[in-house]
Amino acid sequence: MIDREEFKSNIKRIIKIDFGKTLDKAEYYQKYNAVAKALMEKIVDNWNKTEEEYSKGKQAYYFSAEFLMGRALGNNLMNLGIYDDVKEALKELNIDINKLEEIEEDAGLGNGGLGRLAACFLDSSATKNLPLTGYGIRYSHGIFKQEFQEGFQVEEGDNWLRYGDPWSIRRLEDQTIVEFGDGKVRAVPYDTPIIGYGTNNVNRLRLWKCEAIKDFDFNLFNLQRYDEAVEEKNRAEDISRVLYPNDSKEEGKLLRLKQQYFFVSASLQDLVKKFKNKFGRDFELFPKYHAIQLNDTHPVVAIPELMRILIDNEGIDWKDAWEITRKTFAYTNHTILAEALEQWCCKIYKKCLPRVFEIIKEIDENLVKELSEKGYSLSKIEKMRIIAEGNVKMAWLAIYGTHTTNGVAKLHTNILKNRELKDWYELYPDRFQNKTNGITPRRWLALCNKELSELITELLGSDRWITNLELIKKLENYKDDENILQRFLDIKQRKKNQLAKYIKDYEGIEINPNSIFDIHIKRLHEYKRQLLNAFHILDLYFRLKENPDLDIIPRTFIFGAKAAPGYIRAKAIIKFINEIATLINNDIEIKGKIKVVFVKNYGVSYGEKLFPAADISEQISTAGKEASGTGNMKFMLNGTPTIGTFDGANVEIVEEAGEENNFIFGARIGEIKKIKDSYNSKEYYDKIPRLKRVIDTLIDGTFDDKGTGMFKELYDSLLNGAAWHKPDEYFLFRDFSDYIEAQEKVEKAYKDRIGWAKKCWINMISAGKFSSDRTILEYSSEIWNIEARKI
Ligand SMILES: *Cc1c(COP(=O)(O)O)cnc(C)c1O
Repeated sequence: MIDREEFKSNIKRIIKIDFGKTLDKAEYYQKYNAVAKALMEKIVDNWNKTEEEYSKGKQAYYFSAEFLMGRALGNNLMNLGIYDDVKEALKELNIDINKLEEIEEDAGLGNGGLGRLAACFLDSSATKNLPLTGYGIRYSHGIFKQEFQEGFQVEEGDNWLRYGDPWSIRRLEDQTIVEFGDGKVRAVPYDTPIIGYGTNNVNRLRLWKCEAIKDFDFNLFNLQRYDEAVEEKNRAEDISRVLYPNDSKEEGKLLRLKQQYFFVSASLQDLVKKFKNKFGRDFELFPKYHAIQLNDTHPVVAIPELMRILIDNEGIDWKDAWEITRKTFAYTNHTILAEALEQWCCKIYKKCLPRVFEIIKEIDENLVKELSEKGYSLSKIEKMRIIAEGNVKMAWLAIYGTHTTNGVAKLHTNILKNRELKDWYELYPDRFQNKTNGITPRRWLALCNKELSELITELLGSDRWITNLELIKKLENYKDDENILQRFLDIKQRKKNQLAKYIKDYEGIEINPNSIFDIHIKRLHEYKRQLLNAFHILDLYFRLKENPDLDIIPRTFIFGAKAAPGYIRAKAIIKFINEIATLINNDIEIKGKIKVVFVKNYGVSYGEKLFPAADISEQISTAGKEASGTGNMKFMLNGTPTIGTFDGANVEIVEEAGEENNFIFGARIGEIKKIKDSYNSKEYYDKIPRLKRVIDTLIDGTFDDKGTGMFKELYDSLLNGAAWHKPDEYFLFRDFSDYIEAQEKVEKAYKDRIGWAKKCWINMISAGKFSSDRTILEYSSEIWNIEARKI
């Protein structure tokens, strides 16, 4: 509850101090800022109390180069339990809360799943009163904004701080210095509160901004050499200027390495300083009070950096420092793609971080010694060395320098143990664990689908499911209740209508809300196989052209995906799908039976509109390639069946909801392994005329790539391969017919409305396992050894 009068006068007061005007003259963004500040004022005491309570025991820290937070206003109001109250208060001030929410920029400080996972973990930790703090970088530009020009992706910088960031507090008192081989910079922390749902606890996300030691050079300025006078400032600020828009492949960029070291060093210094204030130099206690999770290899330089701090600054000997380090850190692996296993050229490392590189060399030598003593052969040792072929292998350093390595879904962890990290698993079997990913039910159901949430709460007689998601399993007894299933369908229809309206307003495209909404949203990557989806659409189109009376349920295929700017093939796939959209959407013979929309700038907030409105969830990665996926869970929780491969967390989704309620197709891992070496995509192409028909559109002039040669290149990648890969390395041709068959099953099942609603319902009520509350509690008890501390 809020004191409405007080809240209203606070808003007026803040607008006066911050913007120098009265409420009636304020712009909407100014009103948004004032409301956010009024909420900050409300929570600050609890925030400080939480910090004090947490400092009494062991705490966990999530080091991540990415936090894909999205918007904060609506979520914070909901988590505080004052959404409706504030809505009313604002109405009395003539402020429309929906407009306020829409004006907020997404905090897009992440690329995709990995960064969004970090954000869900923060929400879950605060909600479960767990002492977890996020540490990362305050990029002044997050993930780029995406537009289409003639169907091609074009990127624009994401100036998300343009109108200020009312949710963060600059903490100059906690600034620190970070040293590189070629100079020093200042790290200044900005703290953002993470407000738990239904609790007073408020956790913290601390993001570092990079600044120059000196703002400008007075003497150079005085000499009127203005550019030079601010050169140092600009160079320093470059370090936290942009998020690398590369989703999985690593760019061998010096700046990227500097970013990694910058936030890791600042964060560790921060922790060591606070520790010393409390315990003096009794560093054996350090792992008793700190558990640090390394989110993928990006922050793994933390291992040699903590060694450096302990040895060089604190005078601890190597052996003890190593023990402290290993007990402190744990590492999460997020990928199976070999090209995404991060490596750094030794030369770059040595130049940028000379002392840290020396330490890595010594760690590598110790590893060699350990392996020799265990009788490993020279060739095997060479394979496992941290420094090999002139590179630093970050994943090996991560496993060697931590007490636990975890995968992010059962299947993924098994692949790590049996294939990708087999040597390491055999060396340290006890270090490997699985932690299946999850999503927060607050943002991904309670906030984005209030209609469905209200139904769930009504039927359960309580809203406890929002923090105990397993409770929705109790709704199983409604799975044959036609009244309830009809209410579910009505809600789905409302969400589809809302999405259709939004797409009309935002994209200028009209879609039929009574068609099947077939949705494929995630980063654009070859292994995620948006192209396979495109091939199915084209095949359906050709069949409709052949047979205009073909009786199908109208379908809208919706895509949303950003391609890394340098990933030409991914961009070619976007252009190809946009060409398909133009062809199909303008063909009057199709009579609107199918329509294709590629929405622009897919991100967290767009996702909140898309997931609840989906009839079918596309999760069609090549088996063995998607570590977990979390988009799949968001669809499931909103009552959407999956059409997908037996990959990542899809395996566990059908384990929970039943294969009969989803549409699983395609080669499984075992089969891929078997056919891999003898695979010949040309055979499928020759054998399946319908496949040939769609593939040939890439080269027969059906579509125009504006002379870029992109489409021919796509064609070659599938039939001829390239210097770095075999033809059709993601097995689209192998799965083409299976996929079409699965799509036909979707169509058939959809016709039986109540039968379909039952599948949706069973998916929804089976999603309990995929709450990030479950995941974070597992990390807490099985990796971090921390406990809840409620204020
Ligand atoms: C959940 C989410 C992802 C991850 O999607 P996957 O389908 O698991 O790859 C990516 N981007 C955004 C904006 C998300 O919300």
